[in-house]
Amino acid sequence: MRPKIAAGNWKMNGTAAALTELHSLATGLPDNPPQIVICPPSTLLFRATDATHGSPIQIGAQDCHAEEAGAYTGDISATMVADSGASHVILGHSERRDAHRETDADVQAKAIAAWGAGLTAIICIGESEAERDAGQTLDIIGAQLDGSLPDAVEAGNTVIAYEPIWAIGTGKVPSIAQIKEVHDFIRARLIDRFGAEIGNALPLLYGGSVKAANAVEIFAVENVDGALVGGASLKAEDFAPIVTALAQS
Ligand code: PEP
Repeated sequence: MRPKIAAGNWKMNGTAAALTELHSLATGLPDNPPQIVICPPSTLLFRATDATHGSPIQIGAQDCHAEEAGAYTGDISATMVADSGASHVILGHSERRDAHRETDADVQAKAIAAWGAGLTAIICIGESEAERDAGQTLDIIGAQLDGSLPDAVEAGNTVIAYEPIWAIGTGKVPSIAQIKEVHDFIRARLIDRFGAEIGNALPLLYGGSVKAANAVEIFAVENVDGALVGGASLKAEDFAPIVTALAQS
């Protein structure tokens, strides 16, 4: 039985005032909530873990460096993320792959660092619109999976997020058939590489313009175990219905 996970990526949004959203979210949770992981900017990590203490909401970072310490101005290490009380870290988000030129090898090294600090890595993969139009989606997804996942993947240390780049922040969402095709492909690839026990235990999240209005049908797809949500995770009133849809799926 895989956990259901509703993860929110706040990106570069939110100052201390945004912590009230965590309180609002915590007070409006459904019975039997799924795992909820909110990933605020790194400036808020310590305060976010304080603010959610005693609630089911977990906190994650949006990135970490592969090294534990050193002369890496502006970066934070996995150890620092864990020190904040966070439990997860997003790795290989398409915005980092694009704007920061992160490669699959970088993501793999960061995942090893994350595990070393006791964090769960939420590893993002996804094709561009041009790659989809060229019929390359499954090749791209397969290559990203192969390159980004270390061999030592275990059931509890990794979550995969399939995020088609063209669906992120655009309001465009793949068809249910397209989501199912990619998630089934990822599941099969994971089983092939890591064996049935681990391959079947790894949660697969869909990400890209998830909202309350489309959450129910996306969560009904086999092999969709939850969502990684950007824009609709910023406000509790937008994220709570997504959490509820997942709890009821
Ligand atoms: C994301 O950036 O991970 C994301 C899925 O964004 P949005 O939900 O806004 O499309």
